[in-house]
Amino acid sequence: MQFAALPERLVAIRAAIDAAARRGGHGQAVRIVAVTKTHGPEAVDAAFQAGLGDVGENRVQEALDKMGQVTASVRWHLIGHLQRNKARHSDRFDLVHSVDSLRLADAIHEVGVKRGRPIPVLLQVNVSGEGTKGGFSPAELQRAVGPVAVLDGITVCGVMTMAPFGAPESVLRTVFGGARECGRMLRDAGIPSATELSMGMSGDYEVAVEEGATMIRLGTILFGERH
Ligand SMILES: *Cc1c(COP(=O)(O)O)cnc(C)c1O
Repeated sequence: MQFAALPERLVAIRAAIDAAARRGGHGQAVRIVAVTKTHGPEAVDAAFQAGLGDVGENRVQEALDKMGQVTASVRWHLIGHLQRNKARHSDRFDLVHSVDSLRLADAIHEVGVKRGRPIPVLLQVNVSGEGTKGGFSPAELQRAVGPVAVLDGITVCGVMTMAPFGAPESVLRTVFGGARECGRMLRDAGIPSATELSMGMSGDYEVAVEEGATMIRLGTILFGERH
């Protein structure tokens, strides 16, 4: 019963998303990724029953465990850091949001080549330069485009970013707008598939949608506080 309030919360969140998308004027569709980390498999089932087909986990092992415990056919997103020695698990996910280095991109590419099916990924960008957050700086991303574009074992579907926690709105706009520009840069530089923008969490998703987010990753606002 812990998640009984989910359908009602979702109605309000979807209304807020629609309003933010109209204010932003980017005309994009917005997909909610329900972040179920630390919650049990029943959170995944509750999300699915509420109409959410996309689920995000930030740790590989927790995600694999949950996949084995859930029958709902959701799409699984890996949103947390992936260690290179766990890259072989990348093909269990419908989208890996957190490709934060060329070496990791290369390791996932090798998995995709071996499977004969490119693995869909996002490149994580660190626009604010915050030391605790991983990802390519915009300058690093520019240098990585060429080497990444030739990796046919991955499909680069866009970029992901995280804003500093509790940042004022002006900083959020700089970070989210910067990530949007990074996506445009990837497309201009020869990766036309880079159309997705994964940005925005419970505390900042409305600004993210205003700035063009196509995927928002929501945990707390859907499922309550994590323990
Ligand atoms: C936990 C997490 C989220 C969701 O955070 P909330 O503030 O609970 O919505 C989103 N993205 C990433 C990468 C996360 O680790």
